[in-house]
Parts: sequence; structure tokens; C-alpha cells
Amino acid sequence: MAKVKEKLLFKTENVSGGRTDGESGIVEQGGSAKRPGKVNGVTDRLQARRKSLNDSLEGDVRGFLVNEAELHTYDDLTKVNPVTPSTVLKCLQARYSARVFYTHAGCTLVALNPFQPIPHLYSLDVMHEYHTASQPQDFKPHIFIVAEEAYRNVQGQVEPVNQSLVVSGESGAGKTWTSRCLMKYYATVAASSRKCQHTVERIERRVLDSNPIMEAFGNACTLRNNNSSRFGKYIQLQLNSSQLLVGASVQTYLLEKTRVAFQAPNERNFHIFYQMMKGATEEQRQEWEMPRDQKFTWLPNAEKTLEEDCFQETVETMISLGIDAHKRAQIFRILAGLLQLGNVNFSPAPESEPCGLDQHSKGFLEKTAALLRVPAQELRECVSVRALRAGKQSALLKPCSQRECVVRRDCLAKVIYARLFDWLVGFINSSMYADDSKWCNFIGLLDVYGFECFLLNNLEQLCINYANEKLQQHFVAHYLKAQQEEYVSEGLQWSFIRYQDNQRCLDLIEGNPTSIFSLLNEECRLNRASDAKQFRERLQNELSDNSSMSWDKFSKQPHFIVAHYAGKVSYQIEGMMEKNKDPVPPELLSLLQKSEDPLLHSLFADSDTEGNSRGHSKVVTVVSKFKKISARIKGKVYRTVVRAAMLYGLETVSLRKRQESELENSLENLMKILHSTTPHYTRCIKPNPDCKPLTFKKEEVITQLEACGIVETIHISAAGFPIRVPYDNFIQRYGLITNTRLLAQGAENEAQIALGPAVQNILDAVLRTKSSAPNSTPNNNNVMVHCGKTKVFLTHAMLELLEEQRYRV
Ligand code: ATP
Ligand code: MG
Repeated sequence: MAKVKEKLLFKTENVSGGRTDGESGIVEQGGSAKRPGKVNGVTDRLQARRKSLNDSLEGDVRGFLVNEAELHTYDDLTKVNPVTPSTVLKCLQARYSARVFYTHAGCTLVALNPFQPIPHLYSLDVMHEYHTASQPQDFKPHIFIVAEEAYRNVQGQVEPVNQSLVVSGESGAGKTWTSRCLMKYYATVAASSRKCQHTVERIERRVLDSNPIMEAFGNACTLRNNNSSRFGKYIQLQLNSSQLLVGASVQTYLLEKTRVAFQAPNERNFHIFYQMMKGATEEQRQEWEMPRDQKFTWLPNAEKTLEEDCFQETVETMISLGIDAHKRAQIFRILAGLLQLGNVNFSPAPESEPCGLDQHSKGFLEKTAALLRVPAQELRECVSVRALRAGKQSALLKPCSQRECVVRRDCLAKVIYARLFDWLVGFINSSMYADDSKWCNFIGLLDVYGFECFLLNNLEQLCINYANEKLQQHFVAHYLKAQQEEYVSEGLQWSFIRYQDNQRCLDLIEGNPTSIFSLLNEECRLNRASDAKQFRERLQNELSDNSSMSWDKFSKQPHFIVAHYAGKVSYQIEGMMEKNKDPVPPELLSLLQKSEDPLLHSLFADSDTEGNSRGHSKVVTVVSKFKKISARIKGKVYRTVVRAAMLYGLETVSLRKRQESELENSLENLMKILHSTTPHYTRCIKPNPDCKPLTFKKEEVITQLEACGIVETIHISAAGFPIRVPYDNFIQRYGLITNTRLLAQGAENEAQIALGPAVQNILDAVLRTKSSAPNSTPNNNNVMVHCGKTKVFLTHAMLELLEEQRYRV
């Protein structure tokens, strides 16, 4: 094969196309036979991708047709020619070196984290420029283009359309940073007070203030990010008919409540605890039993100083959101109580006796009781004695083992913290939410955990990866649809590629009647001790025909492996059922109901203190809550959620309302909202694991491009007609093959259509040569081309053939 000798002079545009065929998963193209290299199963696809990733990391840039010196000028990755992981990576690296942090990838924006402030990139003037531009997309790629596009789309050409901005990426990639940036943009350009363009007013202020307060309670310093969000968030910015921001509401997902009682080595608890410890006044220290030199087990690495440790800022935002001094005092007292609880340790005792408490622990237990406003003796009994109930008979009391005491202590802290967090979210909603009559459309911002694969993965990762799997499916469907529309508008007559999506993996996790979730729930609802081995056997027996599931024969631990779109993840089964049941002993709930602290009391007022020990069918598991869709909820789903949250956030909790809000706080409902909106995807990339400014590690980036679906997009792209050349450009370059010259350059559409026959002549000539020398190119089967109304759509093999012919002439 003749090598391509010249760099292409024009930039081609890449397109992809196809549709998802959930049923057959067969891959076909242009009505012809299956294309070589196409895939039949998830595993194959992953393997194929891994191979190409490896190739790319080895620096294989065969067929690299763009001018490498100009790589940083490519504003859209799909215009790099050819689009391969290698070229994409090189392009991003070149841009990063040139301090260009945003790049389009078709309908996605890739945001590379600079890990240092970039002066003026996000200033009010820049916002203004993008907002007032007649064609913002002609400007340099920027998060403000996405923001502005969504803002303009809301108004819609025919009717208003709600928008969703999905921000994804791994921990530390910049999702929360980007979300904040988007919120600032809308709080500025959609400010209700036109006179104050440079200041954000009442509701805008509240929307922005919701960030520091939620970050104080929901973020923590982890190994991967000093300010890591430990919950997922969907914030809906409500706009009135004049496109002004009039309200907002926020929905949270999967708060990592275990962090209250357990922090991995070198990680920290939620910021709020450190803020209190560092920022309390002497008076508060006394009230909270927090002398400066006090060591708290649940406050590790307190010596590390972060900018997030600012108590004053949290207090100020609480004030601005309307949390009065009284409520603030209650909140901080409860939190102080939790810190004291963490210092309570139990000593082993004979089976028939409750565990002992040393003098120190006794003191901390009393301080906890005093701060939580519950009787100390009852607190002690609740954490160290279990009540066994059989039907309506009075309970049998059984002392807990040392381990059980620790579990109950931690459970108490977790349930209090989680409900306090929910209360806070409810309150924030109540202070930002606009009355239904005041708003008509919304822009939603989604900031969720990215795909996770650690050494040990359990239920948390399964839920997070399941959510990402759902989002990926949504993305692929949206992306393919957009491309398909483009083919249609170009009048392409061809049968679209059938692309096998991740439905199989989703069936494995959540499908009916049998899936990991359904089996896990069944196991949890059975009235028997959790048995990891038994559960593994059930998974193996009942799901073995799903190729997305596998096992490592050599592993001693019960586990299962799921082939996600972003890679394989091994999940441990040990502890999974307990995590899914997430039981709260009824005695603990009864105790909290007795609290004389009005806030704590209200958080538990309607808890069912008998549910867990009686009817087992009532057990609402973590996965069912996360996944579930409420059959009762129809129509304006989101408004109902917020109304429920408002009530929840204000006075005494009503059980019905709370259940409603819990039910709707699910992935299914989130997906329903996303499906009803126009999505915009931003993929944040962390260029190095150490959060170092302006450092680009190729291996890190390629793995993330893979995990966030960019590589997937590239593969879909490669499965269609990845190269698209306008007619005039085509004739300019290949006209010499048939001795055709372009007379009028830059012609309008109609003139370009007239160029069609000339293009067709060139193609016929090239294809004739090809059939006379059938083995002239290795990718012979992939030589395909279609003429649209204004462009030629080519496969890479066809491009090679054209280049070869051109070179010969
Ligand atoms: P997690 O999943 O752990 O919550 P994340 O994706 O939300 O991570 P961020 O907290 O948004 O990550 O970003 C991590 C850090 O990266 C920020 O604290 C900030 O220092 C830096 N950063 C992110 N984006 C930018 C940016 N555009 N400009 C400058 N710094 C940035
Ligand atoms: Mg975050």
C-alpha cells in the first residue's frame, strides 16, 4: 500500500452514525455484510478497545493525517483526522501544553483540569462576551458555550425545552468546580435584577450560597481530591418566561454516610467537623465539649489545613439561606455529639454481659447524651443491648458483642448524619424554590460520582457504576440520535449501523425478573443471616448466561465481575447484603424519638420503630431506593419532589411526605428527567493523579477518556463514516484524479449540490481502480462512501484509497 505522503490541507469533519438495536446486537453497515473488526459482545468490544488503547499508548500514529504542529488548534476532537485514541490524546496534550483547557468532542465538551487558577478565563467580561455573541459556538471552546447554548435552547424555536447539563469525570477532575462555574454563569446572565448586572441578587445569591453549605456537609478531603463531593447532586435552575432565574431546587444521591464513622487512612471526615473544631468560639467550645487540644477518633488528619476549613463562610451562608441562630445551634450541637460518640470504645465482656466502658468512654458517652439531649443510661443500653422481638410478645434483651456494639454506635452516627444532611437539603430547597406559577422551564446541572474501580469494590461502587452505566446509555442514545439526524438532513440513503449498546450490562444489574439487584434484594428480604457464599452461588446459577458477568477462578473471596462499558470491575460480596439492608436497630430510633432536641426529635419523629423486626417484606433496601420509580408519580415529577422536600425541610417531618421524597430521590426519576430534557455533556478530565498544575500524564488521560465514554464515542464514530468532506474541499483535493477543477470556491449549498456529479465522477474513477486491483489496500472491505447533499461521507479505508490515487496521479 502506498503511504500517505502529504498531510491533508483541509480539515475534515468527522461524523458517526448508527442506531442502537437493543434486540439483536448485530452489527451491519450500509446493507452489506458485517464489517471486519466489528464486535459481537461486550467483552469483545472491551478487548478490541483495550487493544487500540494499547496501540495508542505505544505511540502508534499510523495514518495520522493532521499536521502535528497544528494539533493544538483543533477545537473539536472529531475533526482530527483520523479519530483514534492516539490522535485524540495527542491533540489534547498539545492543547494542554498550549494552555487551552476546553475542547469539543462532537456534542460533548472535554474540560481538562488546569489545577491552578487561570486568570480571566471565567471573568464577568468573558461571560458577557459569550452571552452576547450572536454565534457563541464560533468562539473558543469554553464551558460558557455549553451554558449559553442551553440557555438559548430553553426558549426553543417552537416551544420551550428544558435542558440538562451533565458533568462527569473521575474524582478531582473538576465536576463540582464546573458546576459552580455554570451556576455563576446563570446567576449572572439570568439575574432577575437587570440593573445589577455585576452583582448577584437575592435568589441568585441563595443559589450560589447553597454550594458552600452543601460542600461543608457533603464534601471531604480524600486521597484523590482535597474537596471531594461525597454525594451526587442534580440542581434545577428555574427560569420564568423572560428567562430570568427565579428559583432552584436540588436533589442529592447516595451520600457516603459511612465516612462519619470511618475514614480511610490519610483521608478525612466531612469538612464541617473540622470547620467547627478550628473555627468555634471559646463559648461554643465549652458548649460542644471541644477544647482545642481534644483528640477525636472521627476527626483524623485535623492538622492538615485546607481552604475548605472555613467555618465562618458556612455560618454566613447558613444565615443567608435563612437558617436562624436557634437552628444553627441545634445543628452544631448534634454534630458535636457525634464527635463525642466516636470516642466511645467498648471492652469485651462474657457473652451474657454487656460490654464494658472505661472511664474515658463513659465520659464521652455522657457528653454525647447531653449534646443529643437523650438519657445517658438509655443511650448506653441502646448501643450495647439488643431487643429480640417475636411477634407481639415483649422483647427479649440480649447483650451485644464488642463488635456489635461498635456497629450500633457507628449506625447511630450514620443515621443521624444522613437525616441531618437530608434536612439541610430540604431546607435549602425551601429557601430557593420558586412557586410553580413563577417559573416555566429549567436548566438542570448534574454533578455525580464518576465510574469507580478500586482494589476493593462493594455496593457503593456497584450503585455508582450502575448510575454511570445508565448515563452512558443515555449519552450514546443521544449521540447516535444527533448523528443520525445529521445523516438524514444530508439525505443519506443507507441503513444505519446497529450498534450494540450496554443494555446487556444494565440487564445484568437491574433487569427483570432476575438480576444482581433483584437477587440481592431477595436475599436481604429473607429472614436469614447473610451468607456471601450462598449469594454468589445464586448469582452464578441464575445469571451465568449473561456474558457481562464473570468470576475469577483463583480468588478466594466471594465476588463477581461485571464488564462495564468503562472496564471490568470485581465486586466483593462480603458485606454487600448488610450494606443493602442498611438496618437501623429500632431501639436506636426509639431513643432518638425521645430526644429533647427539637431538630433531632423531628428528624426521627415518624420513623417506624418496629418495621425492621416485624414484616420483612417491608425492608426497603439501598438498591431499591436508589433505583426505584414510584408508580404514583406522574407528570411534573420534579415539582412534587421539591414540594415534599420543602415540607420535609420546614417543620415536623411528615412520614408520607418524607417517603415521597425518598422514593423520588432515585436514579429512575433522574433518568426520567434527563430523558425529558435536552442534554449537554461535559467530560472533566484529571490530567494527573497528583493534582499538579499543568502536568499531563497520557496513561491517566486515556483511561479517563475511556471511562467517560469519549473513546466509546470515537469507536462509534469509527463504526460509521468517520470522515466528512464538503464537496468543494473534496474537488479541490481530489479533482486532479479526473482532471476536474473547482471554479467557484465557497459556493452556497445549491452550488455545492451542482458539484455532486463531479464528486461522483472522481469516486467512480477511484472505485474502478480499486476493483481492478482488489487487494491494493488491506482494509478493502471497509472502502465505503456515500454522497450527501453537500458533503461526501467516507470510511478511513476510502480516504486511504483516495489519497493513494491522488499520490499516483
Ligand atoms: P469529586 O468527584 O472528588 O467531587 P470533582 O470532579 O468534583 O471531584 P473538583 O472538586 O471540582 O473535582 O475539582 C478538584 C480541584 O481541581 C478543585 O478544587 C480546583 O482546585 C481544581 N480545578 C478544577 N477545575 C478547575 C478549573 N477549571 N480551573 C482551575 N482549577 C480547577
Ligand atoms: Mg465534586
